Amino acid sequence: MTLSGAIPVRKDRGRTTQNGFQNRVRFECPKEKNKVMPRVRSMSQIWKKEARYIIKTALVFCALSAAFSLVGMVLPEKVLLHNPTGGLSLHEIAGHMLWGLVAGTVFLSARYVIITGLFAVLIDSDHIIGLFHVEALERMSHSIAFGTIAVIVLMISFGRKDYRLGAAAFAGVLSHLSFDAFDGDSKFPLFVPFYNHQIIFPTIDWILFEIAAVAVAGTVTILATRRPRVITAQP
Ligand SMILES: [Zn+2]
Repeated sequence: MTLSGAIPVRKDRGRTTQNGFQNRVRFECPKEKNKVMPRVRSMSQIWKKEARYIIKTALVFCALSAAFSLVGMVLPEKVLLHNPTGGLSLHEIAGHMLWGLVAGTVFLSARYVIITGLFAVLIDSDHIIGLFHVEALERMSHSIAFGTIAVIVLMISFGRKDYRLGAAAFAGVLSHLSFDAFDGDSKFPLFVPFYNHQIIFPTIDWILFEIAAVAVAGTVTILATRRPRVITAQP
């Protein structure tokens, strides 16, 4: 309400309308009758959409990790790879999932918590190359280079402003390395392709990798949920 008692006027898409307070109800203006109502989704539709997104991102991440392992065939320090069948036990899957879920909790979103948990397991698809008994550098995706490529590819594929998806990819890699270290299996080519050797980390370093995963997820969550600053005009 204005001080003069006149009906408030709202600029609406370049058109001045007498809106009053009742104009909050849609379709009051006859000219807006043809406007399309936003589709109301049921809970099951929302869950299906979320499930589709999670499955698609997980499949792309999994395929990317398997594809990246092929790069190891052209790098120095390669060795004859062993058949990985039976290499990933239930204990490892559960451990990687748990470590990923813990790091993903910082996203404050069920979608990204689940995605981080899945990414933390699926990075091990870089072992699939071992089925072909070729010579290559082992565990190629256990590296910063793969984490960076995963961020770029996922954000290009699913949304350039989906910063939490990018962070989930990197946090998934870091939390995976954390559990591998915790489990006494901490031998990664972390700086491939710039340093093509397996680096052995002490078991205690699992804490550092997990803290790094939480830090990545937390920083992006803060940036993504930060409210835009409202600038008020000075009288
Ligand atoms: Zn691993």
